[in-house]
Amino acid sequence: MMVYLVEHFYSIQGEGRYVGTPSLFFRFGGCNMKCEGFGCEESTSSGEKVVGCDTIYAVNREHFLQNWIPITSAQELINVINFYDLPFAVDVVLTGGEPLIYANEPIFVEFLENLHERGHKITFETNGSLDVNFQRYEIYKKCIFALSVKLSNSNEPFHKRVKGEVISNIALNAKEAFFKFSIDADSINAALEDEILEITSYSIESDIYCMPLGGNKEEVEANTEPLIEFCKAKGYKFSDRLHIRIWNQNRGV
Ligand code: SF4
Repeated sequence: MMVYLVEHFYSIQGEGRYVGTPSLFFRFGGCNMKCEGFGCEESTSSGEKVVGCDTIYAVNREHFLQNWIPITSAQELINVINFYDLPFAVDVVLTGGEPLIYANEPIFVEFLENLHERGHKITFETNGSLDVNFQRYEIYKKCIFALSVKLSNSNEPFHKRVKGEVISNIALNAKEAFFKFSIDADSINAALEDEILEITSYSIESDIYCMPLGGNKEEVEANTEPLIEFCKAKGYKFSDRLHIRIWNQNRGV
């Protein structure tokens, strides 16, 4: 499978456990889901409107592949790091789309090993539905996994988005794993509570972060206070989405 890179940028981590940490982001193209339930619209170059999650431009192959960068060697990805004048071995965040669609690709694995050798801390932003072979690729044991397991508001079928054995396997073998859910005010109810309980039961010791859903500042802000109340009631950790709040977008920040 060809590895595609959508964009790279040096910023601070905007959400989750490492919020505020200077990080170099690699956004890979492609995903095993669509998440049309998130309802974010994006115009294609031909003016067509497509609906999906807030990174639909890194998900929808049909309309956006033409903008993605085909990667033919691990060195091309390493060159990205050299392109930035980084002050130290900064944290590297691999996101998408779904970066783990490339988990078994030799180029991708070599890149991870190289990052680790250079002293970078590696974090995956993943939907936690694709299995990782920790026995075959030991490098994954050195990585951190932010598990953004999709909830029913994504409109993806349950069997596709919640894979208990995958969650347990990652939580058990990775250097660190924590849950990260995007939640909008309207879906905070008993059903959502049950959903989160079920998903997190596959790794009861992992921290649970809840972030306000939304592809722009207004949506994020509207969902913030109800979500803080929810976190207070349930004992979950609230996570802001700084990059959206500060720059009002998700692309390149
Ligand atoms: S799994 Fe994540 S990247 Fe993929 S479509 Fe859903 S929200 Fe977007």
